[in-house]
Amino acid sequence: MSFDLEENKLKEEIAKRKPKIVFLQLPEGLKAVAPRLAALIEEAGAIPIVSGDPCYGACDLAVSGAKILGANLIIHYGHTPMTVNVDVPTFYIEVKAKIRINEAVTEALSHLESWNKIGLVTTVQHVHQLDDAKTILKNAGKSVFVGNAGRVKYPGQVLGCDFSNAQSISENVDAYLFVGGGRFHAMGVALSTEKPTIIADPYEKKAYPIHDQVRRVIMQRWGSISEAKKAKTFGVLVILKSGQIRLRDATKIKEKLEKNGLTATIFALREVTPSALMQFSGIDAFINTACPRLSLDDGPHFGRPLLSINETLVMLGELKWEELLKSGWFGNAT
Ligand code: SF4
Repeated sequence: MSFDLEENKLKEEIAKRKPKIVFLQLPEGLKAVAPRLAALIEEAGAIPIVSGDPCYGACDLAVSGAKILGANLIIHYGHTPMTVNVDVPTFYIEVKAKIRINEAVTEALSHLESWNKIGLVTTVQHVHQLDDAKTILKNAGKSVFVGNAGRVKYPGQVLGCDFSNAQSISENVDAYLFVGGGRFHAMGVALSTEKPTIIADPYEKKAYPIHDQVRRVIMQRWGSISEAKKAKTFGVLVILKSGQIRLRDATKIKEKLEKNGLTATIFALREVTPSALMQFSGIDAFINTACPRLSLDDGPHFGRPLLSINETLVMLGELKWEELLKSGWFGNAT
């Protein structure tokens, strides 16, 4: 196992709180260890129930499921706490990676040759390894910057929707090095800072730049906004996840659309999928008020435009495309 599941911490927490029922929530990449963790919870004296729903972030605490089941404790794996109104006791286990990052970071040096001032960013899984990455970069003669804007738990940490630590050092750096798996977070860094971003992926043991994909996403988003300009009927989506419910924003954007002579209906759903939206055949375009990554990462799969709030403002002429590019799509300007 390349992650530390902090099993002792889990057992100690259950022994301390003595819950009758524990609702266990894991991100997609860790669902395979659910039976093992459930067995540990049972050994510690509680009844474990594993949430089988998708979980993409700390914004998605399984509060309603826990309440329906009468759970006394939610154990949420893989994310740092987020400010979410929760009335079920919740314990977070962050899950640190055990895999070595050195090979991938060393390989990244060849992609960073043109730049001297490097911003280091990562996910919670690798924050404890940033010093190793820093040493490798410094030994190669680079100046290294790690941002701390104070919005997320650790310096250098980014979330899929919060790149404040990267943005806080943007003026000081030539390029970023993202340490971690996949393109998801690195793409957000590149979009929100408009700086070259290199991925050092310790799981693939390789390093590569992400500029091409970023350019493609920007073009797709412009295409969606242009397409939505032709739409007459809009569906405004409210997402029923504990940290994503934005009914006020949905109501405001509905009013703006109506003021522009367009028709808008608010829809509430837990998971936004192409098949869920396909049912609403009378709708020309959708506005997503929740996770900004839905439109950015999966936009082309929905068949019809799926715009963020900021993209809707560009469509209505209330926000300039250049300002949207600067925001990296992660802010909300209603
Ligand atoms: S809103 Fe989206 S990107 Fe942000 S934490 Fe939730 S799932 Fe991740």
